[in-house]
Amino acid sequence: MKSEINKRLVGIAIFAVFATVVGTTIIFYSLFQRQVKKDLSIAANLLKDTHYFESVNISTDKIDLSTDFDELRVTWIAKDGTVLYDNDATAKFLNNHNDRPEIQEAFYNGVGEAIRKSDTMKKNTFYYAILLDNGTVLRVATNAQSLYAVFVSAVPIIVLIILIIIFMCVVISHLLTKQLLDPIEVMVSNLENADYESPYKELDPLSEMLRSQHADVLAAAKARQDFTANVSHELKTPLTSISGYAELLESGMVAPEKQNHFYQEIHKYANRLLALINDIIKLSELDRVNYELAFEEIDLFELATECVKDLSVNARVKSISTYIEGEKSIVNGNRDLLRELIENLVQNAIRYNNPEGKVTVTVKPVDDRICLIVKDNGIGIPAADQERVFERFYRVDKSRSKATGGTGLGLAIVKHIAELHEAKIELDSAPGVGSTITVMF
Ligand code: ADP
Repeated sequence: MKSEINKRLVGIAIFAVFATVVGTTIIFYSLFQRQVKKDLSIAANLLKDTHYFESVNISTDKIDLSTDFDELRVTWIAKDGTVLYDNDATAKFLNNHNDRPEIQEAFYNGVGEAIRKSDTMKKNTFYYAILLDNGTVLRVATNAQSLYAVFVSAVPIIVLIILIIIFMCVVISHLLTKQLLDPIEVMVSNLENADYESPYKELDPLSEMLRSQHADVLAAAKARQDFTANVSHELKTPLTSISGYAELLESGMVAPEKQNHFYQEIHKYANRLLALINDIIKLSELDRVNYELAFEEIDLFELATECVKDLSVNARVKSISTYIEGEKSIVNGNRDLLRELIENLVQNAIRYNNPEGKVTVTVKPVDDRICLIVKDNGIGIPAADQERVFERFYRVDKSRSKATGGTGLGLAIVKHIAELHEAKIELDSAPGVGSTITVMF
């Protein structure tokens, strides 16, 4: 994090320094160029105004401008482009200058100027030519640093500034990350302190998110702990009974006519164990993160009809009648899980019912949702327990649940499956009247 901020700051700083240096160099150089041109034009006009070159009248030997200031080169050119005089080179060695743009311009316009690169990149030569009254052209020239040279001369300063800036960036990014991270560390260590307020408001969303995640993690850990404790307890009870009965049988102390009862008890407890383990496996499968479900279009009415038919034998044993109502209703879901959900609800409606009771399953669209309604006229659930019956291992009447083969996990499984299908569950129940559970898809 720190090195990332560092890198970015240094990057921005280097870019800023370069942009500034390049920008100012260009501005400075154009001012400088203008000044050089102006100086040349003053020199040329001064020389012209002396009428010196008209007066010597091509007797070039007499001209001597090879002064100490070799900064200024003076060239005199005849009408045909021949170089008559040059204070830097002997005129006769110079070729015809008619092809020089500044000379052509001067012949044409009266004045002409040009800038040419010299042999090295470092220098540019500036020319200013002026037409004299006798039709010849006088040209002055000087060498000046090129833009490149000006830039190169600035390099040591640029490097120095960049080094200083890199140092400053390191210090600033250190301070900045410290300033940003310290409060976060304090906030993290205060996640459980409800009175703690984030040091700056930008941290509020993060703080809230961390708090709620922290609370979720704690709740999940607690739920898992409770569940493990409950599972161990629930498994222990039938196993203790099985072990006890088996031990008695083994000891030979049970009269032969009573033995059959003991075998039945062992069988009953073993079945309860199996049911428990089955439900635990189902729940842990549902708990699996990234649980990949095969969803398909299912006619919930048809599926409910099958379930009711399968369970009607169970119901008949208890003199309970089952009914299915509704119409074809397509939902997108997982067939096995939806079957499990319907079976659990119908089993409960049968299990917690009275003899001659009634169970009605209805599947139909209500508004824009598909509803599965399982209604019984059984014992009902007291209002105080209605919130909790969907919790794992929560039973209103423990002995009745156990006696009828309940595990205490059925509604927890129903709730989980409903959540996976984004369905909503509503429970409407009154003791002595019956219960209606509606699942809305
Ligand atoms: P169980 O395996 O004990 O039935 P569930 O999770 O399915 O566990 O249900 C939890 C508790 O809710 C049951 O023990 C029972 O007390 C109550 N319950 C569930 N369905 C009904 C119902 N249709 N009528 C009355 N009580 C019910």
